[in-house]
Amino acid sequence: MSTPTPAERRTPTVAVIGAGMSGLCMAAKLKRAGIEDFTVYEKAADLGGTWRDNTYPGLTCDVPSRFYQFRFAPNPDWSRWFSAGPEIWRYFDKVADDLDLRRHVRLSSELVDGRWADGRWQLRFADGAEASADFLISACGILRIPNVPAIAGLDSFTGAVFHSARWDHSVPLAGRRVAVIGTGSTGAQIVGGLAGVASEVRLFQRSAQWILPMFNPRYSRLTKLLHRRFPQLDVRGYDKIRARAEWIGSAVTSPGPKRTLLQTICRLHLRRVRDPELRAALTPDYQPMCKRLVASSAFYPAIQRADNHLVTDPIDRVEPTGIRTADGTLHEVDVIALATGFDAHAFMRPLALTGVDGVTLDEAWAGGPRAFMTVALPGFPNLFTLMGPHSPVGNYSLTEIAESQADHILGWIDRWQSRDIDAVAPTEEATARFNAEMRAAMPGTVWATGCQSWYLGADGLPELWPWTPDLHRARLRQVEPADYEITAPAAT
Ligand code: NAP
Repeated sequence: MSTPTPAERRTPTVAVIGAGMSGLCMAAKLKRAGIEDFTVYEKAADLGGTWRDNTYPGLTCDVPSRFYQFRFAPNPDWSRWFSAGPEIWRYFDKVADDLDLRRHVRLSSELVDGRWADGRWQLRFADGAEASADFLISACGILRIPNVPAIAGLDSFTGAVFHSARWDHSVPLAGRRVAVIGTGSTGAQIVGGLAGVASEVRLFQRSAQWILPMFNPRYSRLTKLLHRRFPQLDVRGYDKIRARAEWIGSAVTSPGPKRTLLQTICRLHLRRVRDPELRAALTPDYQPMCKRLVASSAFYPAIQRADNHLVTDPIDRVEPTGIRTADGTLHEVDVIALATGFDAHAFMRPLALTGVDGVTLDEAWAGGPRAFMTVALPGFPNLFTLMGPHSPVGNYSLTEIAESQADHILGWIDRWQSRDIDAVAPTEEATARFNAEMRAAMPGTVWATGCQSWYLGADGLPELWPWTPDLHRARLRQVEPADYEITAPAAT
């Protein structure tokens, strides 16, 4: 078949689910590729995803600002090495404006059902609206559905109680006693953020966390000026930090001196806690980096304040005025903040998807979420995922991962435009082989060294990309046609 002329190339209709970081990344890439017929369906009334939902005190992204941005959308104005949540939200908002993405975003539009029928995705929304698309791209985010723990009596509490991702800003905190449940990245940041605001903070710790120090200087006016004048500096800064982050990534995925060095830094950092009893209580019983590494220079000073308390006795129940621990103590508080994480295995669910032969996503994922190369699902043609199962999420920049995945997806859309394909999905064999390869690589990762975390699947094995982010990018660039079931357009 001869190569189609530009005029013969087809124009696809693309539906993207979610206007958070990765949905906006996909939208920007589609736009840059000259594709205009796309819609980003967003369930909420505003864009921004995790940066819209998370507004808790102390929220700072622990990935450097210069690397937590799109490589194609430099920002000379970052105020610090690591940015606070509202500044990041403003960045994505600005990207949406600068690249004219906003008119493609349909807010308050929750997709509830998607079916592959007659070579297209047939879509139905919560408000009854319908649409169809040649490609369906899930950009729902991973840490989206709050995990509200089943603690007895939680409903009986007479003060305010809310999850970290649903922070209730109408509740005053100044001079009040606040309980924080959970010691992950979120809990650690909240404790740092509440220091000196609340009259007392009680941190309920089920497991201690290793913490990497995080120095956070301001960018000078001169640096901002230079970055505005020479945007290449921004890109160069991005690439430099990416190289450093790759270095950390390889320490996580394979044992060796790099891992030992990072673990030693965490152990030395813990020495900032002067009281031996408190230090012992804050010392984890597993290797640093087994759970997602927390980065904070504010946490240890905050937890050592006289008005803050670490509670390590297990929670027995919540009562109207506070939290009763197993030793019988009632910890009276005015506010309970649940920093208890998310359902990291839902991905695009509860959205109901039906692929080839009427197979539903729930049926396909009965044994747990799985994808081929993090971006596609067997039996679900022309469906792609950003931040899908097995993405290399760890402590790495998700903006970079979203870009690699979006570029890969664009490659398939380009083949569709050129009339090389009508539909594409990975084969069952390739997906099974990829999953087996992943499992074989897991024992080398630090996540498999014995701790509980959201990285683990139902069978207790980690489910993340077990190699370097570098390899993720490289493998997404090499498409092996034999790994895919491709429907070619009918000859004319
Ligand atoms: P998380 O890492 O899953 O931590 C949840 C915490 O809640 C853990 O300490 C857990 O204890 C505790 N917990 C859960 N259920 C509990 C219960 N019933 N009773 C007592 N404690 C309970 O959640 P997260 O801190 O929200 O962080 C999730 C992810 O979000 C991070 O890993 C990271 O990827 C991302 N994040 C990133 C940043 C950033 O700066 N880039 C900031 C915040 C979050 P166990 O450890 O014992 O299970």
